[in-house]
Amino acid sequence: MPEELKIKDLHFSKFINSDKIQTAIKEIAYLINRDYKDKNPLFLVILNGAFMFASDLLKCVEIPCEVSFVKLKSYHKTESSGVIKKLIGIEHDLSNKDIIIVEDIVDSGRTINDVLPQINSLNPKSIKIATLLYKPMSIEHEVDLAFIGFEIPDAFVVGYGLDYDGLGRNLQDIYQLSEK
Ligand code: 5GP
Repeated sequence: MPEELKIKDLHFSKFINSDKIQTAIKEIAYLINRDYKDKNPLFLVILNGAFMFASDLLKCVEIPCEVSFVKLKSYHKTESSGVIKKLIGIEHDLSNKDIIIVEDIVDSGRTINDVLPQINSLNPKSIKIATLLYKPMSIEHEVDLAFIGFEIPDAFVVGYGLDYDGLGRNLQDIYQLSEK
């Protein structure tokens, strides 16, 4: 894959290569296999961004588990509340289940903060979060992240499931916005 690329009006340079991503995912899978040894967790994959991460992660998970794919729909609850993200597409019964949320990236923490109470209201036994990327410098809402692939600086990234205006999700490496 190229070191530099252009998507629409923006220039990106390679930031995390595919080998490093796979190594980080194996480490997360190791922890999940260990921590959930005698459990049957349900992975709740947040589409679209987490599809590639979830696919590679789940191939390394050796314990019996279920997988469910959900989406977020943005809507305005009231004029003043701003945009709320509502989870749609939950088809599984989450009650008494050990849930592992699979996210592509935690930036401000807003999305996860919107999503957690919605999952909690379905009475799971436990909830943990696995995110491939985490931007600690951008965080505005407290979040408890159990499994993190990479902590990254506050710059826009694409690739490996993450898009810029719909493009770039198919890239096997992660690219960061460059100054050019
Ligand atoms: P948060 O709600 O934590 O601020 O942001 C979470 C969501 O914002 C992610 O699921 C993702 O869709 C989007 N996002 C945040 N940072 C980036 C980024 O650097 N690149 C891309 N492509 N999406 C991002």
